[in-house]
Amino acid sequence: MKSAIFYFFTTILLFSNCKFSETPVKKPKLVIGIVIDQMRYDYLTRFADRYSKDGFNRILKNGFSLENAHYNFIPTYTAVGHASIYAGTSPNNHGIISNNWYDKVLKKSIYCVDDANYKTIGNDGIVGQKSPHRLYTTTVADQLQLAQNMQGKTIGIAIKDRSAILPVGHTANAAYWYDAGNKNQWITSSFYMEELPDWVKAFNSNNKADAYLNETWETLYDIKTYSQSRADNNIYENNLNGQEKPVFPKNLEKLRVQNDNFSLIKTIPAGNTYTVDFAKAVIKGEQLGKSEFTDFLAVSFSSTDYVGHRYGVASVETEDTYLRLDKDLAHFFNFLDTEVGKENYTLFLTADHAAVHVPSYLQSLKIPAHYISTAKLKKFLSDITQKYFNSKELIENVSNYQIFLNQEKIEALGFNKNTVAQRLADEVLSFDKIYKAVTAETLQTTNFTEGIMHSLQQGYNPKFSGDVLMIPYPATLNYSRKGTSHGSGYSYDTHVPVIFYGNGIKKGASKKTYKIIDIAPTISNLLKIEAPNGTSGKIIEEVLKK
Ligand code: ZN
Ligand code: ZN
Repeated sequence: MKSAIFYFFTTILLFSNCKFSETPVKKPKLVIGIVIDQMRYDYLTRFADRYSKDGFNRILKNGFSLENAHYNFIPTYTAVGHASIYAGTSPNNHGIISNNWYDKVLKKSIYCVDDANYKTIGNDGIVGQKSPHRLYTTTVADQLQLAQNMQGKTIGIAIKDRSAILPVGHTANAAYWYDAGNKNQWITSSFYMEELPDWVKAFNSNNKADAYLNETWETLYDIKTYSQSRADNNIYENNLNGQEKPVFPKNLEKLRVQNDNFSLIKTIPAGNTYTVDFAKAVIKGEQLGKSEFTDFLAVSFSSTDYVGHRYGVASVETEDTYLRLDKDLAHFFNFLDTEVGKENYTLFLTADHAAVHVPSYLQSLKIPAHYISTAKLKKFLSDITQKYFNSKELIENVSNYQIFLNQEKIEALGFNKNTVAQRLADEVLSFDKIYKAVTAETLQTTNFTEGIMHSLQQGYNPKFSGDVLMIPYPATLNYSRKGTSHGSGYSYDTHVPVIFYGNGIKKGASKKTYKIIDIAPTISNLLKIEAPNGTSGKIIEEVLKK
């Protein structure tokens, strides 16, 4: 009897244990990647006091934040950032070396996602002739498709085409971007489909953009309370066409006439609200997160970049844009709770690069900052080739701080390409504002393990990059003296937020150094799928639940 009771309880115990251990960890039904174009890490801390509890603070408090995550390559531009986040590797592997670059074979400048083999779906224009064909590796979205035998849905959306297309890669069900001007349509490419789904057509005919542009952009709170920014009226910011000063309020209804009509929405906070509107329409229209398979949605907020370029890091416009974006995110997260279910989604939020303070503003504070003229640099370089090789025709192209040499000409004159490249790399250091220079030969034969030369090497792709690569001083822009930009390997451009949240993610924060290319292998591990095929990042163990 005793042993029978023992047996009985042991069986129950074993059975329940067994049942417990066989309960699979529930996979998320939807993964959402959020990229905020040009968001610096310090926008999380600088504006924290006025962020609501449901926006950035919600995922900071309940998710896992990497406080010291950086881009590990040069250049820090939109296409490169988006490709690297989702491909888990750097331009040396994935091949997206800039937004635009000089194609050595075609001998002309190309744009990262242009593809004349496809047509616009949605209207008769050309802005839909795009594809991810220049991305040579897979993204985490591709791997999810492969792992589920194409039974989940993967979709990318953004106002900018490249920010919608590159994240979801080659096997995406769709990527949608915004055709502005007088079109006011979310469109796609025949790479993905032959006709827009009904829900996209319905969204387009709803014409919400008009309502946003019939308003006036005033600050969300009393402008006197924008203590995180310098005075609204200053000489470091660009204007909208039709405004004499870069100040609030901005009468959008009047200004849209001089700012290419619907293109104005790209450059104001409402562009982010409009992106959330479309993201909600995608989730409902495609029933994302409703099937037994995991779906993937990549959302990129482009308007933050347009605002950042025009007004700079310390502007009231930037502060107001982030306070409004925080509200848009709060709204979006609440929507996800209701529509997909709190336990059913995992998201990450990051940026494609950060930005430098307006260099002329830094100069006014006695911080070293510079402007570089491409025309002057080109002349300087051709003077060098004239002096040492008696020809001004040895350089084909100078772009993205890279020199592309004319190999045929060099050989015809009896010189060696590496000799010419090394001479240029040595001599260009005497050009004001160029700080470092290195030849492609050196990058192919030396392994730089840390610092800015390592970043340059990670961004260098032997097939596509130039023959000499240059690095300007910190805080140097090839740009107007008003407004700002990005692209360097310095920390003001590389340090961005990385926050994971939701299903499978621990609560916490880390001050350890991580790379942006670590995001994709981490999400792949959470989904129990293979990481993208060019992955060079590593799994961030501390963010994942066991
Ligand atoms: Zn960008
Ligand atoms: Zn930008």
